[in-house]
Amino acid sequence: MLGIDLFRANAKVIPYGRQSISETDIEAVVKVLRSDHLTQGPVIPKFETAVATACHAQHAVAVNSATSALHLACLALNVGVGDVVWTSPITFVASANCALYCGATVDFVDIDCNTWCLSAERLEEKLEFHKTRNFPLPKVVVPVHLSGQSCDMKKIASLSARYGFRIIEDASHAIGGRYYDDPVGSCRYSDITVFSFHPVKIITTGEGGMAMTNQPDLYERMVRLRSHGITRDPSQFLRDPKGTWYYEQLELGFNYRITDIQAALGLSQLARLDKVVVQRNQLAERYDSALSTTWFRKQSILNGVLSAKHLYVIRVNANQREAIFLLFQENGIAVNVHYFPVHLQPYYRELGFFQGAFVESELYATEAITLPLYPELTVASQDRVIDLLIQARLEH
Ligand SMILES: *Cc1c(COP(=O)(O)O)cnc(C)c1O
Repeated sequence: MLGIDLFRANAKVIPYGRQSISETDIEAVVKVLRSDHLTQGPVIPKFETAVATACHAQHAVAVNSATSALHLACLALNVGVGDVVWTSPITFVASANCALYCGATVDFVDIDCNTWCLSAERLEEKLEFHKTRNFPLPKVVVPVHLSGQSCDMKKIASLSARYGFRIIEDASHAIGGRYYDDPVGSCRYSDITVFSFHPVKIITTGEGGMAMTNQPDLYERMVRLRSHGITRDPSQFLRDPKGTWYYEQLELGFNYRITDIQAALGLSQLARLDKVVVQRNQLAERYDSALSTTWFRKQSILNGVLSAKHLYVIRVNANQREAIFLLFQENGIAVNVHYFPVHLQPYYRELGFFQGAFVESELYATEAITLPLYPELTVASQDRVIDLLIQARLEH
């Protein structure tokens, strides 16, 4: 057993994240392929109901990516020209791009130096600063649950009541996690929560995403926008129906639909969600106990949070990171950085953002390394990662 594992580990690059596909998953997909409907069939609503039930949310809209879900979420909240959306610089670009798709502008709130999530304290300061100077306040704030840890949602929700913004949780990393008494996705502290089902995320549909909400109007709007702005619900028609075939396009929507093939994979994966999150937490604990906190800084976890542990990130001294990266690369381990700050991307620099604007995020991005973490990461492979880190510490 050990011999085989070492052989595989030596022959193949160990990635930072990887999907886990079971025979049951494959059978579920094949079953749809043999059925009448490859898309818009019975499996999509089944998948939506199952995720909504698991997350204690009223409604779910499955789409072809989290990026699409973020876009629909912004549109459902009427984000448009003249509006501003705030998010964290330490995220995937999609958390910010969704606002630009709607013609709105983006601004950022720096991260907390310990949790590395969007800082509720910096958010409060920035809101107050903008309010007293009559600068624009955000219409929507997008807290990002970095690596699977919920942001300080209680505080962010109380600020939303005080300053009048809406909240979209970017929970692309966090399905299966919990925040106090609720599963992530319950939308207790937000208007909409978005999940990603990209293969490196917690569960996958190949490509895919979902928007959760408890508000029927937001749900209906996202359903309509997912498919061209078309409705088949006679209660929404503006004109007299001409027949049972009749539908109306009420606004300009998109084709953001997911397929039944993908939904079948997602539904099958969802059955293992709790198990996967336990496995991820167990592997993360092995890293935690093997790596000393003086040399490797780890993400602090807030009270009340169960992280889904999408990513395992450590911080090292910035001047040592490159050497550690090289050491990993030479040994066939594909470590990564999550993330390069969005505001320093060339596209965002063109919009006027600059180095020095969000110092905590910028410092984080020079120090962070994402270590391999996924359910099928073997203990032997994980030990190789740990040994290399200890070697790196002795060398530098
Ligand atoms: C992966 C990811 C997205 C985008 O997800 P897709 O399903 O690939 O569109 C958005 N936000 C964050 C934080 C992500 O990690």
